[in-house]
Amino acid sequence: MIRKLGGIRLPHLKGTQISETIIQNTPKKVMIPMSMSMGSEAEIAINIGDTVFVGQKIAQSSGALSLPIHSSVSGKVSAIGEMRLINGAKCKTVEIESDGEQTLSADIKPPQITDKDSFIDAVKESGICGLGGAGFPTYIKLSTKSDIDTLIINAAECEPYITSDCREIIEHTDDVTDGIRLIMKWLDIKKAIIAIEANKPEAIEALNQNLENSSDISVFVLPESYPQGAEKVIIHTVTKRVVKVGMLPSDVGVIVINVSTASQIKRYCDTGIPLIKRRVTVEGDCVSKPCNIMAYIGTSARELFELADTNFSKVNRVIFGGPMMGISKMSADAPITKTTNAILALAKKEYKPQTACIRCARCINACPLKLMPTEIEKAYNARDIDRLKKLDVMLCMNCASCSYVCPANRNLAETNQLAKSIIPKG
Ligand code: SF4
Ligand code: SF4
Repeated sequence: MIRKLGGIRLPHLKGTQISETIIQNTPKKVMIPMSMSMGSEAEIAINIGDTVFVGQKIAQSSGALSLPIHSSVSGKVSAIGEMRLINGAKCKTVEIESDGEQTLSADIKPPQITDKDSFIDAVKESGICGLGGAGFPTYIKLSTKSDIDTLIINAAECEPYITSDCREIIEHTDDVTDGIRLIMKWLDIKKAIIAIEANKPEAIEALNQNLENSSDISVFVLPESYPQGAEKVIIHTVTKRVVKVGMLPSDVGVIVINVSTASQIKRYCDTGIPLIKRRVTVEGDCVSKPCNIMAYIGTSARELFELADTNFSKVNRVIFGGPMMGISKMSADAPITKTTNAILALAKKEYKPQTACIRCARCINACPLKLMPTEIEKAYNARDIDRLKKLDVMLCMNCASCSYVCPANRNLAETNQLAKSIIPKG
């Protein structure tokens, strides 16, 4: 249970929040993974050699939580291959060579929405998942049977470097608030709160101006600490409600939707064009011109790094996402997916070896959920499942605040992930 929120201060490093998004030219080729969100892999619905159009469905949803996948370019399917995901599993990929025409699929038309069910069906068909990086299919969140009194719009974006949501608010304020009102209308939610950190003054100003005469949507300014954007933390900060182990936000009357996800829903309802592009922050100490790029899904990260003038000879690590919770990639050739909010090119860091725990308790004080990472580490090493359960390891959201503050450089967050994986499901 959350007794008192911890959290840490991280360097801001958000220089890209003041510059306009660059629009990527149509890429020559895209490689689209069939697994880009939580849930099972989508089923490929085209063949090598087929001609495809922008927005055409190239893979059907299959099984629980799965989402359809659409082509981001028009052209020819040149290959169906495989790539390895972070969990070691393989997923299929569809490679499309662009014809440069960007011809829209004839199937594209705005969805007919008449009630909650048809709204949820439309959101599913759009292929939208949480664009903040979590990748949970949005239609599942909206399908709740619980009574929801508050819609929280997550605009926290609290990891260093990432400004993709911030630019969405500044550049498309109307889409953001219209998207929120669509969700409120079809799910009959009376109140929405946009939660955004205090260090985004331009975005806060844009929202306040847009909402000047509104009483249904308000802006909640969050303190500048990490991890504000984690669902359990943001719900507690905004509503003081506690989401306990095994509970969903809807169990406490709340749905949390990422801010860019809300505006993407609005654009899909207007145009019928599914999720084929997204804004990506390109940053890191090897990037000469950090920026945000509106990128085609399936583009190789290398192409975006080149646009941002990256010195590849210095790059030691490529991260998809932020430096705290992002995923290191073996190569800059990995494709941009629905959940890639940032790509970072970082130079070599001094290696700091792990030393023995000095029982300073900094990890406990830093944990926003007041877990005890040092005890979890011990219980994991002893494979003591009962003790791990008592320590509420399943609450850990892998924010890495504990590892960040540890003077002994212990891999606490990593160990927590391993510890979660040995807890039997159900
Ligand atoms: S912060 Fe590191 S050294 Fe301090 S108690 Fe936690 S694990 Fe031990
Ligand atoms: S990684 Fe887990 S244990 Fe560590 S600070 Fe974050 S929530 Fe707490």
